[in-house]
Amino acid sequence: KVVTRFAPSPTGFLHIGGARTALFNWLFARRYGGKALLRIEDTDKKRSTQEAIDAILDGLDWLGLDYDEKPTFQSSCAQRHAEVANVLLENGYAYRCYATPEELEEMRAEQRAAKLPLRYDGRWRDRDPSEAPADASFTVRVKTPVDGETTITDLVQGDVSVKNEEIDDYIILRADGTPTYMLAAVVDDHDMGCTHIIRGDDHLNNAFRQLPIYRAMDAIEGGWSDPTYAHIPLIHGSDGAKLSKRHGALGVDAYRDEMGILPEALFNYLLRLGWAHGDTEEVSRAEAIELFSLDGVGKSPSRFDIKKLENLNGHYIRQADDARLARLVADMQGGKNESEMDLLTRAMPLLKPRAKNIHELVDGSGFIFAKMPLEMTEKAQKFLTDEGRGYLSLVSARLAAEKNWTFDALEASTKSLAEELGLGFGKIAQPMRAALTGTTTSPGIFDVLVLFGRDEALARIDAQAV
Ligand code: GLU
Repeated sequence: KVVTRFAPSPTGFLHIGGARTALFNWLFARRYGGKALLRIEDTDKKRSTQEAIDAILDGLDWLGLDYDEKPTFQSSCAQRHAEVANVLLENGYAYRCYATPEELEEMRAEQRAAKLPLRYDGRWRDRDPSEAPADASFTVRVKTPVDGETTITDLVQGDVSVKNEEIDDYIILRADGTPTYMLAAVVDDHDMGCTHIIRGDDHLNNAFRQLPIYRAMDAIEGGWSDPTYAHIPLIHGSDGAKLSKRHGALGVDAYRDEMGILPEALFNYLLRLGWAHGDTEEVSRAEAIELFSLDGVGKSPSRFDIKKLENLNGHYIRQADDARLARLVADMQGGKNESEMDLLTRAMPLLKPRAKNIHELVDGSGFIFAKMPLEMTEKAQKFLTDEGRGYLSLVSARLAAEKNWTFDALEASTKSLAEELGLGFGKIAQPMRAALTGTTTSPGIFDVLVLFGRDEALARIDAQAV
């Protein structure tokens, strides 16, 4: 059975790369009927904050990524990590290293001078601990293989090999007894039953370092078989450089709040960013669960394209339920009563065809709640000439006499008025739009008339008529 985990460090917001890693893990688990788990890697107490934890949980929830168990907090497993380190020690797969920080710095300086890679040289690997000065503090290092090479069959990267000499005996327990990330992640992944480790390819090197722990523990107690790895390429900006804030590497919350993106749009966008199934751009959540596979994940970095995200967002806005959109708009505009919500909901079909984000819906619906006397844009004001205002009084009289306040009836009587006056329709429509909305860009005026209803519509027209 498939078990995946998303393992963010709560040192900042849930950024777009992390969200995509979370999504791929979640989809992989859902696709194969497995379990999706969440682990908060909060061992770095200085950099981890509750605020970041909340932002991550909130962002995942907003994207609709649910987890099958309560999150595991890595910091609460420290004892277990130390326990595994001791098992490794007792069985000769790890050893105490008494090298002092100064000594290690000296070693590195020599390596630097000789242009050698900086690696722990294994000086305590085979040394008798009794040679250590009394009461000297020590770290615990894992014994990694010295000869040969290790090959990982990565589900995204394919077969990747690294010479074992490149992997030094790294620290698993610090001098103060606290576990390092490298140990903690392996122990937790094992204890959580993770079968697949799907993460950014910046962790590919770590896989080669982490495997020796699995193999040692498997040799000691069994049941620690290698996990299957899938290291997904990082996201780059549209210019090919590593994604940074300037490219839109924001927290998921900024996509929601500042950019007005719908979660299903970000879900779809992140999915398509690095995963392809034919040329289909629009993939629903249900389709994604049915179709997702790691074969579809490319090896090269994907480029973040804000235009594509906006286009998808427009697509999902057009599909979204009107009452839901009205609520999102109202959340940004501040409190609305029931009748205002009703009006806003009825306005959505008029506003959503052109909107690429929620802010455009907010802006587009501004005229609905504008108070009289309406504030006019400069352009709108230009249509409210004496002539334009004169037409408005004629329109007002004509519409007031209209029994059926419907789109078709209102359109027919306005158009026949224009004909009778020998005017192009625009001559009347433009001042009407200005009077009704205070702008020159709005949904169609007959839609607006119907939306407002007779009283409000006539009141607005009359306010500008002479
Ligand atoms: N906490 C690590 C990170 O945020 C994840 C490590 C892992 O997935 O193994 O990059």
